[in-house]
Amino acid sequence: MIEVRTLVEGIRAGNRAQVSRAITLVESSRPDHREAARELLAELSGLDKLDHRDRLDHRDRLDHRDRLEHRGRSVRVGISGVPGVGKSTFIEGLGTSLTAAGHRVGVLAVDPSSVRTGGSVLGDKTRMAKLGVDPNAYIRPSPSAGTLGGVARATTQAMLVLEAAGYDVVLVETVGVGQSEITVAGMVDTFLFLTLARTGDQLQGIKKGILEIADVIAVNKADGDREQEARAAARELAGALRLVHGAGERAPEVVTCSALTGVGVDEVWSRVLAHREHLGVDGIDAKRAAQQLDFMWALVRDELDQRLRRSPGVSAIRAEIRAAVLSGELAAPAAADRIIEAFDA
Ligand code: GDP
Repeated sequence: MIEVRTLVEGIRAGNRAQVSRAITLVESSRPDHREAARELLAELSGLDKLDHRDRLDHRDRLDHRDRLEHRGRSVRVGISGVPGVGKSTFIEGLGTSLTAAGHRVGVLAVDPSSVRTGGSVLGDKTRMAKLGVDPNAYIRPSPSAGTLGGVARATTQAMLVLEAAGYDVVLVETVGVGQSEITVAGMVDTFLFLTLARTGDQLQGIKKGILEIADVIAVNKADGDREQEARAAARELAGALRLVHGAGERAPEVVTCSALTGVGVDEVWSRVLAHREHLGVDGIDAKRAAQQLDFMWALVRDELDQRLRRSPGVSAIRAEIRAAVLSGELAAPAAADRIIEAFDA
C-alpha cells in the first residue's frame, strides 16, 4: 500500500529517500503503482484541489510575475552526444558549478540501450564522482525496463517529482543514437548537443535530425592540441547551420568548451540561458503545452501498442497470420485487417 500523502510531504520537504521512492513509483508499470503515481502527480501539481473551471480561473489570476516565478522554478535541459564525447564529464563540471552557485540540480537519463540490455550506462553516479555525493544534486540512472515510450513516461514524471522537491535545474542526459534524442527534445526547454571537432566531410556524419532539434551546440575537448581544431570546427559548423536555417530563423549557437578543464562550460550555460531568454515566458509556456499534447498522443500510442501485444484475440491468430504472410498466402493489408478485427473482437 503506497502512502501518497507521506510521499508528497517528503518530496515537498526535499527528502531524498522519499524522492527516490516516488521516482521508483513512477517508473513502475504495475497497475496499482500507476494509479498511485497519477494521484501523486496530481497532488504535486496541486490540480487535485481544483476542478477544471477553477483551474482556468486560477491560471487567469496569476499575473505575469507569478508566472515568471513559477516558470523560473526549473530549467529543463536535454544533453546529448555520442558515447565518449564527454557528457558525464560535462555534467559533473556544470552541475558542481551550478550547485556552488546555489542551485539544486537533478540529473535524469534516457537510455535506449538500457531498454535492450537491462544495464544502465547513463546517469551513473560513478561517472560523476563529485556530483554524485553533492547534497544539492540528485542523479538517477535511466529506468531499465520497457519501451522508449515507457522510459520517457517515467523520466517526464521523475522530472516533475524533482521539480516539486525544489530542484530548479533538471538535466536529462541521452546518447546520440536514434529516437531517444527526439524523445528527450520533447520534454525539455533547451536541447544541448555535445560534439567533437569535425570539419569538411566529417560534418556530414552529424545527423541532420540532430541539427534540427539542437538549440545550443558545444564542440567539446577544445583543449591542448585540439583547441584550434575545435574552434575551426565550431566556425565551420556555425556557417553550415546558418545555411540550413533560413534568414530570420534562429540558428543554434555553436561554442567550444573543455569539460575536462572546465574552460568554456560557463559560456555553454550562458547560451542555454540565452535560448530561454529568446523563448520568453510565453514561449516556454507554449512549448511546454505543445509538448504535453505530443506526450499525450505518445502515451496513447504506447498504451494501444501494449494492449495489442496483450490481446488474447490477437494472440490466438498471431502464429497463423504470421505463417500466412511469410508464405505469401495472405497479403499484408488483408492480414492487418484480420489482426485489427481480432483485436476489436
Ligand atoms: P560520455 O560517454 O559522453 O559520458 O563521456 P565521458 O564524460 O565519460 O568522457 C569520455 C572520455 O573523454 C573520458 O576519458 C574523459 O576524461 C574524456 N574527456 C571528457 N571531456 C573532455 C575534454 O573536454 N577534454 C579532454 N581532453 N578529454 C575529455
